[in-house]
Amino acid sequence: MDRPLRVAIVGSGPSGMYAADALISQTETPVSVDVIDKLPVPFGLVRYGVAPDHLSIRSVRDTLDKVFDKPGVRFVGNVEVGSDISVGKLHGFFDAIVFTYGASRDRRLGIPGEELDGSVAATDLVAWYCGHPEADRETFERLIPSTTTAVVVGVGNVAVDVTRVLAKTLDELTHTDMPEYVFDTLRESSITDIHVLGRRGPAQATYTTKELRELGELLDADILVDPTDLVFDAASEQVIAGDKAVARNVEVVKEWATRIPSGKSRRIHLHFMARPVELRGDARVREVLVERTKLDGSGGAEGTGEIFVIPADLVVRSVGYRGQALPGVPFDESRNVIPHLDGRVQNANHEVIGEYVAGWIKRGPTGIIGTNKKDAVASVASLLADASKLPTAPFATPDDFDAWLAEAGVHAVSNEGWRAIDAAERALGATHGRDRTTISTNHDLLRAANLICD
Ligand SMILES: Cc1cc2nc3c(=O)[nH]c(=O)nc-3n(C[C@H](O)[C@H](O)[C@H](O)COP(=O)(O)OP(=O)(O)OC[C@H]3O[C@@H](n4cnc5c(N)ncnc54)[C@H](O)[C@@H]3O)c2cc1C
Repeated sequence: MDRPLRVAIVGSGPSGMYAADALISQTETPVSVDVIDKLPVPFGLVRYGVAPDHLSIRSVRDTLDKVFDKPGVRFVGNVEVGSDISVGKLHGFFDAIVFTYGASRDRRLGIPGEELDGSVAATDLVAWYCGHPEADRETFERLIPSTTTAVVVGVGNVAVDVTRVLAKTLDELTHTDMPEYVFDTLRESSITDIHVLGRRGPAQATYTTKELRELGELLDADILVDPTDLVFDAASEQVIAGDKAVARNVEVVKEWATRIPSGKSRRIHLHFMARPVELRGDARVREVLVERTKLDGSGGAEGTGEIFVIPADLVVRSVGYRGQALPGVPFDESRNVIPHLDGRVQNANHEVIGEYVAGWIKRGPTGIIGTNKKDAVASVASLLADASKLPTAPFATPDDFDAWLAEAGVHAVSNEGWRAIDAAERALGATHGRDRTTISTNHDLLRAANLICD
């Protein structure tokens, strides 16, 4: 081929950025990469998921951002594949496509009352406090000041994140890049109690120790654990004996169970062996019916029929994420991922030529940010191994693609546009004495990218 291989990466979260880096860092096959994202800004859940008060984890952005400094890597933001441009059309401009568009839709509880006002997905609450352009501001600005008791369903790290953000004082959050409207709403929060529900025991919870410990170190929130909730069967003891991380988690909650509340303004009640079976209320949720569970001997839990009630004005469901299909791309409906073999997209056991997959949409919502690196590198290795036999795209220059987008009326954000947004967010942060303040609407982001003026 007398030109660089043109590769489109669909999604600029960690897996997309690691895939771009792997492509551009090798020298055997000259490559030119466009990292396309539906949002005007890159980095996916590192920007819109990782908790704003976890500054060191959020600083992964700086590492990912360096990929855009490398020659041959372009950001093409504000372009939604499947809506602004079809996958079929994309093949006209690129020799290969890597799908890295994540899996950030919420899972449902499947219980009565789930649709009541005040019952929200953690995904939506996280999107709101991270300043996602599609966040439902009205809902959270209405719910949070009118909530006394919140119930968080789930004991993974995301549940711990949302609990911590709701329980922290403003002083504990002031250094973050959350938009001003989030601070304004949290200032008006009337939340005093947050109940966190885990359906299994302390040995089965999926949070990590560092994140868990933070819940016990908050300025103005006590943590309460009922010692009778600390149930361990033989299977639990085996897990504790064989897994140091689980043993540490169990030690943390055991210590909390001995604590006497010190009269702080907020209380976090951490429950185990408890699962919600119904949300009740008028138009808005007012109480959660919770069933006590028992361990089933193999790491699971089953209901006991014993019910207790927690009065609550807000219920946050944090029971996992799932991917969704992109029109024209094979999808495994049972696992909510794109089927693949070594990162090569598969359709009913046939390889789809020129299509690859990495990250959460490849393996499901598991692992930490770094897990996506190994995963993306493996998929890129398959792509590069295929490079010589890929059909060549007819319109394979950046100019061809840009011209098509312009003609279609899409305001694509380039590297320069992203740099301008980045500078505008830092400047906005400086006006509040912070490093950065997230610009939260598409309109303001595109204006900061100098793509529109009003
Ligand atoms: C709330 C939350 C907190 C987390 N906190 C941590 C943490 O503290 N530490 C840690 O290690 N991991 C954390 N994780 C996990 C980590 O964020 C993921 O491992 C990682 O983001 C997955 O990367 P990805 O690139 O596959 O997907 P994503 O990060 O979701 O990126 C997907 C990208 O694709 C874009 N996209 C989607 N659809 C389209 C389309 N049709 N066209 C174009 N672009 C599209 C999206 O806008 C997004 O930018 C957290 C996850 C969540 C949900």
